Amino acid sequence: MFAEDDLLPISALQHLLFCPRQCALIHLEQVWAENQLTAQGRVLHERAHAPGPESRGNRRIIRGLRLRSFTLGLTGQADVVELRRPTGRVPPGERTRLHDLPGEWLVRPVEYKRGRPKQNDCDRVQLCAQALCLEEMMAVRISVGAIFYAQPRRRQVVPFDEPLRRETQESAERLHTLMAAGATPPAEYAARKCRACSLIDQCMPKSAGRSRSARDYLDRQLKQASASLGPESSDEAT
Ligand code: SF4
Repeated sequence: MFAEDDLLPISALQHLLFCPRQCALIHLEQVWAENQLTAQGRVLHERAHAPGPESRGNRRIIRGLRLRSFTLGLTGQADVVELRRPTGRVPPGERTRLHDLPGEWLVRPVEYKRGRPKQNDCDRVQLCAQALCLEEMMAVRISVGAIFYAQPRRRQVVPFDEPLRRETQESAERLHTLMAAGATPPAEYAARKCRACSLIDQCMPKSAGRSRSARDYLDRQLKQASASLGPESSDEAT
């Protein structure tokens, strides 16, 4: 079990699965740069978090709900949590009762994403982490959620099966290990991935592959530049 102060952001799981170095640059070194892709994603999330619960037929929609899991050591915010009336056969443990809404409900997290479904599991792991937080907070089982992709404007249903739950738990453990180590992994340049990375200018993946961090690399470059100027040049500069 983790303490409140040790909780890490759910969003860091996505960064970790995309690239551990990007995760460390953002969450250890507080380096951040916005590109067109991250700006589009931010606007989409701000719209999804617009306040106020909504009712749509048999559904109640809650936006921007704060989440946390002391088991996984994660905290974050759900874009949307849908409460649905159970219909047909529902697996045991999935129905829950809420203080201020009569009857029984199913809980379904929904995440909004710019762009298209990805080849890797990072979006599904992020959504599954939200579901595991909700399960812990509400003492309910959640078997399925959804990701809404802007291109095409379509929902993808995500079952929270055992392999995805295991991958999410292992990713949370790797994230805590990375943060506890406090060291940024070296860059591993991969053209397609690095060209899409918002931190390519700060990371300098072709130059900083062996360095401990982007800051180390910059420090070394500055030291070399000072040494090559020599003492007279330094006096002129002051
Ligand atoms: S530029 Fe490449 S190596 Fe560097 S953080 Fe981004 S994805 Fe990782």
